[in-house]
Amino acid sequence: MRDRKDELAENLAKVERRIAAACAAAGRKREEVTLIVVTKTYPASDVRILSELGVRHVAENRDQDAAPKAAACSDLPLTWHFVGQLQTNKVRSVVGYAGVVQSVDRARLVTALSKEAVRQERELGCLVQVALDADESGRGERGGVGPGGIEELGELVARAPGLRLDGLMTVAPLTGPYAGRELAAFERLMDLSTDLRRAHPAANMVSAGMSADLEQAVAAGATHVRVGTAVLGVRPRLG
Ligand SMILES: *Cc1c(COP(=O)(O)O)cnc(C)c1O
Repeated sequence: MRDRKDELAENLAKVERRIAAACAAAGRKREEVTLIVVTKTYPASDVRILSELGVRHVAENRDQDAAPKAAACSDLPLTWHFVGQLQTNKVRSVVGYAGVVQSVDRARLVTALSKEAVRQERELGCLVQVALDADESGRGERGGVGPGGIEELGELVARAPGLRLDGLMTVAPLTGPYAGRELAAFERLMDLSTDLRRAHPAANMVSAGMSADLEQAVAAGATHVRVGTAVLGVRPRLG
């Protein structure tokens, strides 16, 4: 078997070349885009290797997997992003290790995150997850609020003790008017970000793009891409 570190280094280099090329094509500086490696379903040993290879941001979508991994890697200089649907009974655990929760999509979750961040004396970054497959005021299949819900939720986060409104996140929708139109979806997210920043200028993070569509996200103006498969390989199970 090939050495895992060599394999991850090679994959990271490929992803790095893709991001650099996408930045160049869009006339953007490479530093404008931050790579977040989505380590879900992969072991803490891989996270450790990624850290050795210079990765500083990792993401997870299930607290059951993420909590022990983050604990095993607590000596590493990493920021943990939570990107999955989050139940309020997991909030205490998630606030214990996450620097950013990217999947904030309802008022009850904001209240729970705020209470816990205050209790643990932590400041937690929050992104409002936008569902571009939802009605204007509805909710997405895989979490997220429709565009009409962003302003209210953003305001709630901005006013909540212990929370910092960092910006917006989306996953390219598989259904609805944006299905198969990743660039259009990400451009819509950028417009929504522009609207949000009128009231919240510091909320300038735009998290979009995964292994298959990071180029479109960079072209649209994303500040963060979340890449799993292209770095770690095809996941052994659904996650
Ligand atoms: C799994 C996941 C990713 C990474 O997806 P890949 O296709 O493996 O790059 C990005 N964002 C979220 C929210 C995810 O759940």
